[in-house]
Amino acid sequence: MSTTLPTALLMHLLPQILALLTGTPCVVALFDERDVLRWANPAFRALFGLSADAQPSWMDMMRANHRQSQATAVQTDDFEHWLTSAASRRGKQPFRKIEADLVDGRWMLMTETVGADGWMLCFGTDITDLGQDQRQLRAAHDLAVRASQSDALTGIGNRAFVLARLRGLLARDLVAQPLCVGLADLDHFKRINDQRGHLAGDQVLCDFARLLQGHLRRNDVCGRIGGEEFLIALPDTPLTAGREQIERLLEAVRQSRPLVDAPGFGYSSSCGLVQVRPGESVEAVLGRADAAMYDAKRTGRDRICSAD
Ligand code: GH3
Ligand code: MG
Ligand code: MG
Repeated sequence: MSTTLPTALLMHLLPQILALLTGTPCVVALFDERDVLRWANPAFRALFGLSADAQPSWMDMMRANHRQSQATAVQTDDFEHWLTSAASRRGKQPFRKIEADLVDGRWMLMTETVGADGWMLCFGTDITDLGQDQRQLRAAHDLAVRASQSDALTGIGNRAFVLARLRGLLARDLVAQPLCVGLADLDHFKRINDQRGHLAGDQVLCDFARLLQGHLRRNDVCGRIGGEEFLIALPDTPLTAGREQIERLLEAVRQSRPLVDAPGFGYSSSCGLVQVRPGESVEAVLGRADAAMYDAKRTGRDRICSAD
């Protein structure tokens, strides 16, 4: 089926599409690959209290939303942790449905549709009228799905989640859309546990997960795949650009001081990065990334090594 319309027909349809999207009570928003709001209809802007020309990032929009107790209700005692966790699962699949609780008691069915370039269409509709019983069942189902995809400590994607996304990315045209895969491992982490205790170690893991998630574009994927090991997938990214992105992450890790009780304490991480070859299996990719990561350890840690 061809999806290309003749230009003349398209020019005729576009104003109609725009007028209807503007007038609908459904909430409609477009986010770019960095998760910055690029267009939203009046219903969406009213729900989130946004002015007609505001273009916040999704994270800033959710922060303001939480501060002002409006739009979506978030039940958590650590909002930033919740945000990192939500962001690590947001817009990573071509399509996803989520039901959201609004602070005014309404209930919304939100959908996310993600294009190959990472732009995302959010489309939501009020489903408050649907039966309460079914809703509770679906809410329980959403919670279970979220738990099965998240790492319990850091809140970002877990091993199963990130490997499933990686399998999906490997099926794409890797010549047209180069894909980089990285394995990051915290340096001398056992020493951190031994010297400062397991709880401090846990705080360092959460700090790394937050920095990692914060250095990704919306269609990049990350997850904690083992103790202090994290997997990163960077779609549409050749090796040199991937290296630069990871260098920025490693620098942020170097600068971070995550322990309130030890303000001088810092840590580092080592990363192996590879560009996936067409036809390569998940196992082969992970094997090469692991070898590159060990090169980073062997040659002094706190660095990125890449392999072609
Ligand atoms: P290297 O720089 O070579 O990676 O050394 P390392 O000490 O980081 O590596 P090693 O594999 O020797 O130690 C990893 C440690 O991570 C051992 C394990 O107890 C700890 N660890 C694994 N999971 C967790 C966790 O959830 N919390 C905490 N605090 N520690 C964990
Ligand atoms: Mg380590
Ligand atoms: Mg390790």
